[in-house]
Amino acid sequence: MALRETGDAQRSRAVTVNGRRYALPTRTTAVICYDGCDPAYVEAARAAAIVPHLAQMMDEGFAAIADAAMPTFTNPNNLSIVCGAPPSVHGISGNYYFDEATGRETMMVDAEGMRAGTILAALAGAGARVAAITAKDKLLKALANDLDGIAFSAERADDATLAQNGIEDVTGLVGRAAPSQYDPDLSLFVLDAGVRLIEAGRVDVAYLSLSDLVQHSHAPGSGGANAFMAAVDQRVGALIAAGATVGIVADHGMNDMAHGDGRARVAYVADALDATFGPGRTRVICPITDPFVRHHGALGGFVRIHVTDAAVDPAAVLAAVGAIAGVGRVLPGAEAAAEFEMPPEREGAAVAIAAPGYALGAHAADHDLSALAGTRLRSHGGLAERRVPFILSRPLNAAYQQKTANLRNYDIFDFALNGVV
Ligand code: ZN
Ligand code: ZN
Repeated sequence: MALRETGDAQRSRAVTVNGRRYALPTRTTAVICYDGCDPAYVEAARAAAIVPHLAQMMDEGFAAIADAAMPTFTNPNNLSIVCGAPPSVHGISGNYYFDEATGRETMMVDAEGMRAGTILAALAGAGARVAAITAKDKLLKALANDLDGIAFSAERADDATLAQNGIEDVTGLVGRAAPSQYDPDLSLFVLDAGVRLIEAGRVDVAYLSLSDLVQHSHAPGSGGANAFMAAVDQRVGALIAAGATVGIVADHGMNDMAHGDGRARVAYVADALDATFGPGRTRVICPITDPFVRHHGALGGFVRIHVTDAAVDPAAVLAAVGAIAGVGRVLPGAEAAAEFEMPPEREGAAVAIAAPGYALGAHAADHDLSALAGTRLRSHGGLAERRVPFILSRPLNAAYQQKTANLRNYDIFDFALNGVV
């Protein structure tokens, strides 16, 4: 699908967003954020020969492993991908942060915390027809920030209106009603909507952001995981058949965090700190906490620690956190912000990153593990979930063949728009 020509010779054929230049697409371009798609899922599905379109992309286009932004959670990485920049630039470094001034935990999912523009909004502003479709409604406001185009969530697709979302009758478009928030079909609904819009020639650029519900409860190569991989692959094939250049990245990987007998392997950081310093003197924030706790119990591989009592020595807190079994790395908040390109004003005294195979929690009483319903805890957030697939349906041009070192997941729009033949 070619871009509509506006006849405006002055109209820019590229946009600059957060210091990077993006060409307006000459071919329809679809970028998929394959939520929680650890490279191991792709490898297992390829080995089982159930993902022919992904395999073809990897063989005939481009495939590499990229680093996700830290912490390896959904919101910071989705925003990094659409901003083409790390959290230090866009300002969102988790679902929740602790406001030391007010002593309140504040949700970071709305656009209010965002301090960078998106590639999507800029492309739309330059005349491209853009669609942002997300499985989870919690991401929509941020992805749709300043976007003049189509923007809706699968979760609330039935409520989409022309005025609010740039589209109506999504049910009619996709051919089925919007799935519930714990239905794996939520992700497939996103992809089907993208396929229909591109087949109908209604968009030039689509950002399709899935949910990691399946990966939280199914290991790579398992029946559930492979069935989902095959279902996604079918939609990827339809996007390519409709003429789209397809780029696929993940927001983070996913790892098992359970003991051999199936019990979750969790280090409860707040319980340990209360035992050392007394209750109420430190505050542990689990930035994975979100309305979708059912599949991970708000347990992930990364927590922030704030000292709420000035009499407590932050250095002693660092030492105490470092001594907890299951903490792989602990560093002062300011150092963590510098090393991992996170906004420093959201950091507290310390950041703790889980050792591989462990999850970090606050107090045991804060986390409802019964919600896991007997499945092994699988989650993300730390360095062990940083490696993600980076796949394009077309080969790289000569210039971008030289740019493949130190790939980040948020390079995907740069590569999909500027870097393929
Ligand atoms: Zn995610
Ligand atoms: Zn998740």
